[in-house]
Amino acid sequence: MSSSYGGTSAFDRLRARLDGRPHACEECGFVEEDGTWEAVTTGATVEYRRECPSCGTEHVRRYRL
Ligand SMILES: [Zn+2]
Repeated sequence: MSSSYGGTSAFDRLRARLDGRPHACEECGFVEEDGTWEAVTTGATVEYRRECPSCGTEHVRRYRL
């Protein structure tokens, strides 16, 4: 039930939008050049989580699928 998405899906497009570009931490200002977001699907939405390697703050981006 988790394999209904093929190669290029909204899921992948959203990930591509986040991956591969620098992410500046909103808390400490640390800029991570090439970190990856951990994707968590929750049915109708997908959450991308990322932890700042400098201060440990967890950042979350949530999108509707
Ligand atoms: Zn930080």
